[in-house]
Amino acid sequence: MAKVAKERSTSRKRVSSKSAAGEAAAEARAVRLEAELAEARRTIAALSAVAPALSAPVAPVGGGAQKELEEKTAALEAANHELRNLTTNLDQVVRQRTRALAESESQLRRKNVELDRLNRMKTEFISIAAHELRTPMTSVVGYLDLIVEGRLGDLPPDLRRPVSSLRRNAHRLKRLVEDMLDVSRLETGRVALHRAPCSLPDIVAAVIDELRPLAGQKHQTLIPEIGDVAPVDGDSDKIHQVVSNLVANSVKYTAEGGEIRLIVDSHADQARLRVWDNGIGIPPAQQARIFEPFSDVHTAKHHTSNSPDSAGLGLYIARGIVELHGGTIRVDSEEGRYTEFTVLLPLVSS
Ligand code: ADP
Repeated sequence: MAKVAKERSTSRKRVSSKSAAGEAAAEARAVRLEAELAEARRTIAALSAVAPALSAPVAPVGGGAQKELEEKTAALEAANHELRNLTTNLDQVVRQRTRALAESESQLRRKNVELDRLNRMKTEFISIAAHELRTPMTSVVGYLDLIVEGRLGDLPPDLRRPVSSLRRNAHRLKRLVEDMLDVSRLETGRVALHRAPCSLPDIVAAVIDELRPLAGQKHQTLIPEIGDVAPVDGDSDKIHQVVSNLVANSVKYTAEGGEIRLIVDSHADQARLRVWDNGIGIPPAQQARIFEPFSDVHTAKHHTSNSPDSAGLGLYIARGIVELHGGTIRVDSEEGRYTEFTVLLPLVSS
């Protein structure tokens, strides 16, 4: 499914690169015409400077002066002729340029309509595919959980490993399906927030309880640093999802024995959560990209835990949820040293 979604994304890129080529050609044409226009203007300016001198009255004298007068008159006529030609050319250039601009504008409008249509198709496709996959995946995951937990009888020893692997991958697929549903809901504005005063320290404590076993598998320490903070005006389930995603990422991208800090306090009349880890970090060039969909900037070899990889939708969803609350999320990182995500959320107004 990730592959299909990625192909959609690639096809969108292809359309946009075609449209970019059209725009570039129109732009090049406009630049050429602009240069011709500037050249014509320069010539007119030069001729206009010469014209007064040429048309200045010459004292009536005989002999050589008469000849000079005739030459000047001829030069003036030639200059006038050239000026008329240039004016005609200039009109032509202006008309051409106006036509080219109108053409590229309507081309751009057509491309935009097409891009909108493709984008809607992509979102619809993701939504339908995810809905269709959710029910069977829930059943597959449920049965595999029962089998692995031995609730449907003992598994023959040689089946334990393959069935555990099946279960792990089924969970991974289920998470991907859920992420895809979240993305389609966010993109179509169908995420309804159930806002109520909620406690960020409580959410952080719950996430730590849930993820401590995962961090424990890598001998990592989860350290809460909880300061004074008033209740947040938010949907606690959705905020939980964001915090859980950030901490799960820290576990995933931090080596054995690493440290993960969850720092909660107030900042500029907002609640602030910082999730800090001393993991592999994110290269500066990739830091802006990680909030885009399918943005796995690290190759699989960097994934230092057994937790299932995902399609790179987690931070895109997290940003969508935080922004829906009227909050912000940003990252600060140094490769090989640390990563810190900062989330700011609005407080309940007093
Ligand atoms: P994924 O589920 O693939 O981790 P996310 O959207 O949650 O997707 O994250 C996008 C990418 O950002 C990740 O693939 C990873 O490369 C990078 N990333 C996220 N969190 C961290 C972190 N704490 N340390 C290093 N890299 C991170």
